[in-house]
Amino acid sequence: MSEIKERLAHVMDRIEAARKRSPYGQKVTLVAVTKFHPLEDMEEAIHLGVTQVGENRVQEMEEKYKALKLPVIWNLQGHLQKNKVKKAVAMADLIQSADSLDIMKEIDRRAGEIGKVQDVLLEFNISGEESKHGLPPQSMKEALDTAKALSHIRVKGLMCMAPAYEDVEKTRPVFRKAHSMWTDMKKEFPEGQISILSMGMTHDFEIAIEEGANMVRIGTAIFGERHYH
Ligand SMILES: *Cc1c(COP(=O)(O)O)cnc(C)c1O
Repeated sequence: MSEIKERLAHVMDRIEAARKRSPYGQKVTLVAVTKFHPLEDMEEAIHLGVTQVGENRVQEMEEKYKALKLPVIWNLQGHLQKNKVKKAVAMADLIQSADSLDIMKEIDRRAGEIGKVQDVLLEFNISGEESKHGLPPQSMKEALDTAKALSHIRVKGLMCMAPAYEDVEKTRPVFRKAHSMWTDMKKEFPEGQISILSMGMTHDFEIAIEEGANMVRIGTAIFGERHYH
């Protein structure tokens, strides 16, 4: 068995086990995070059944987007610079990193130009870490009001990252708060629109699922360590 095949099978088993421990009975969608990994790894994962991939940088996504010959759902999950939004909107099925009012407005404007309604997740910085991007939780109402007024973005849910605590159990309150905010968000939009709670990465996805995540974004556990160049 190839390494990716073996690792992916193990990740799927762990997702399923965590799902069974969750009180929410949710289904869990895997986004395979392919940043800094070659196109061939992405292709292999898709052949193995992965249906969604996630990239952080528009330029890297564009290279793969142009080269890939297989169907897949494209997630963009890295902090977006304003001048990259046009390209992002042209490619992404879901932009998970709508992390400021300004970027929401820019996504709306660029989507409008091409007649698209762009699906987005609002990224919240729940732990308040200074190094992290994301809307402050206190600004949720303002963010939702802004989103509702923009006709070319459709908010599908919430994305967050927990701090990289050594003791992974410490992430639990962060994910619990995210789930609670997501539940509040649902009440603000038409039935069914807020359907995605994206949280959990390689080191903490099991806790995230136990706390209600229905989308996890996993790179390292599938593809191995990233080599930054
Ligand atoms: C890189 C990244 C991931 C995947 O991280 P791993 O620890 O490799 O699983 C998930 N989400 C975001 C936003 C990322 O930047």
